[in-house]
Amino acid sequence: MAIIQHDGKFQMPQLAYSANDLAPVISGETFEYHYGKHLQAYVNNLNATLPGSGFEGKTLEEIVQKSSGGIFNNAGQVLNHTLYFQQFKAPSEGNAPTGIIEAAINSAFGSFDEFKAEFEAKGVSLFGSGWVWLSADKQGKLAITQNVNADNPVTAGLRPLLTFDVWEHAYYIDYRNARANHLKALWNIIDWNVVEKRLVEK
Ligand code: MN
Repeated sequence: MAIIQHDGKFQMPQLAYSANDLAPVISGETFEYHYGKHLQAYVNNLNATLPGSGFEGKTLEEIVQKSSGGIFNNAGQVLNHTLYFQQFKAPSEGNAPTGIIEAAINSAFGSFDEFKAEFEAKGVSLFGSGWVWLSADKQGKLAITQNVNADNPVTAGLRPLLTFDVWEHAYYIDYRNARANHLKALWNIIDWNVVEKRLVEK
């Protein structure tokens, strides 16, 4: 099934929370800029470049897998930010995965703490702008990858489950240059039910 449904015109993703619900991990101001301006621009640019591109009617994943240049950059950023914004919920201390996704993380990384440490380290060490991802391969085995700029694990045949955006626009208003502190705080707003659905749904 396509990650994102569309009818030839891409839409802003529907979210189960409001602009101020993720604070203080992500402030309302950061949300308004990141979702309301950055993502809106990627959606608008993708819709503007789609006619005549040869990618009309393709799924967003197919566009990301097969395109290059401006259409790839905008399609990648629409896919990445949709997965990013739809994985959040209001903050809670001690927030952690349960059930199938917990078992898969423990199996691949030893424990949730070891997984978090590796994921944060790969986010901190990514040079420049990009994304750190948890993905599953065709056998369901989990892996962490760094993807630069607008890239997404679907270009490597992986199924994306969870992502942290490490572009400066994701954290600079709230954390200035302290990327590591921002990444550490994000664990409190992950909706693990959403991540688990991405793993188990065909
Ligand atoms: Mn972003």
